[in-house]
Amino acid sequence: MDPNVAIVGAGVSGLTCGIVFAERGYRTAIFAKETGKQTTSGAAAAVWFPYDAQPAKRVIPWALKTYQVLADLARLPASGVSMIELRQFSRTGEIQIPDWAISLGAHPVIPSKVEGSLKFFRSGFALAVPLMDTTIYLDYLANHFIAAGGSISSNVRLEKLEDVDSKFDLVINCAGIGARELVHDRDLEPHRGQVAVVPRVDGLSCAIVCDDAPLMYAIPRTNDCVFGGTNEISDNLAADPVTTSKIVGECSRVLSIESPRLLSERVGLRPFRKSGVRLESDRLCDGRAVIHNYGHGGAGFTLSWGCAREVLETTTL
Ligand SMILES: Cc1cc2nc3c(=O)[nH]c(=O)nc-3n(C[C@H](O)[C@H](O)[C@H](O)COP(=O)(O)OP(=O)(O)OC[C@H]3O[C@@H](n4cnc5c(N)ncnc54)[C@H](O)[C@@H]3O)c2cc1C
Repeated sequence: MDPNVAIVGAGVSGLTCGIVFAERGYRTAIFAKETGKQTTSGAAAAVWFPYDAQPAKRVIPWALKTYQVLADLARLPASGVSMIELRQFSRTGEIQIPDWAISLGAHPVIPSKVEGSLKFFRSGFALAVPLMDTTIYLDYLANHFIAAGGSISSNVRLEKLEDVDSKFDLVINCAGIGARELVHDRDLEPHRGQVAVVPRVDGLSCAIVCDDAPLMYAIPRTNDCVFGGTNEISDNLAADPVTTSKIVGECSRVLSIESPRLLSERVGLRPFRKSGVRLESDRLCDGRAVIHNYGHGGAGFTLSWGCAREVLETTTL
């Protein structure tokens, strides 16, 4: 008989693992408090870029594997994935193009009129990356998982992993920042991010990112544009209007546009883990196998397929 697999979490990590296991023939069920757009994943920008996750020696290979899968998905318009030029800038000095970016064809760019010219940025590089429109992609993943035979139960809050029904032989923990309580992981740190969603900006066809303070990004999607952002250690899930106006102000300044109308604000807690992404197998107190897959920080989308495939390779069932 096929083994029963339970996945805790229905953000990008849980849904992607769900697809990988269901397609391999496992009877797979997802249990989660919130699903899809209500999760941290629903608040993300969500562009492919290895940001705020460690260690690099594991993160970069996962990111590169994920890149290939997402680039293939970009050929399916219904997936919500598309390829976009990302321009990464520095305000302070000469930017170093990382080796992984060079392997993907990154090249230096001079800040142009659309980025407010050289007065804001000193140097930059550009490369083509996958962009996931979360308003489409998370539903696409959920539907794909169900079509592959999986099931999703929402509004299920687990106190501990052992509470998963004993009929499941393997439990996969994709609880994101929720793993702090679920498995008492004190290494997890909530890297709070706030974004403002505004209407599409005329003439903006590439994603503009600057990691130097103040963190700034403008990401055009199919029907709107995401302005960011913040990254601070905090559990506060309430959107702060002062922060929103600072984000909109800085993006508008860089793009040399009038402040656009605000469509919505989103806040999410990036599940950053100080000792690195936790992808490893373990045993529950009742002896069942568990594989942890959480702590992806600011790169959950960027690492999703690489990690999900490694979770599958890690299982001994
Ligand atoms: C503002 C912002 C911008 C970002 N931009 C990007 C980006 O451009 N690119 C990128 O790759 N990443 C980005 N990220 C990071 C990315 O969003 C996260 O790394 C990713 O969402 C983590 O996904 P996850 O599935 O592991 O966790 P989550 O999306 O948080 O999902 C966790 C799931 O576990 C469930 N859960 C938790 N605890 C329990 C429990 N006790 N019982 C039952 N269910 C439980 C939750 O309900 C949820 O379903 C961004 C994040 C933010 C906040």
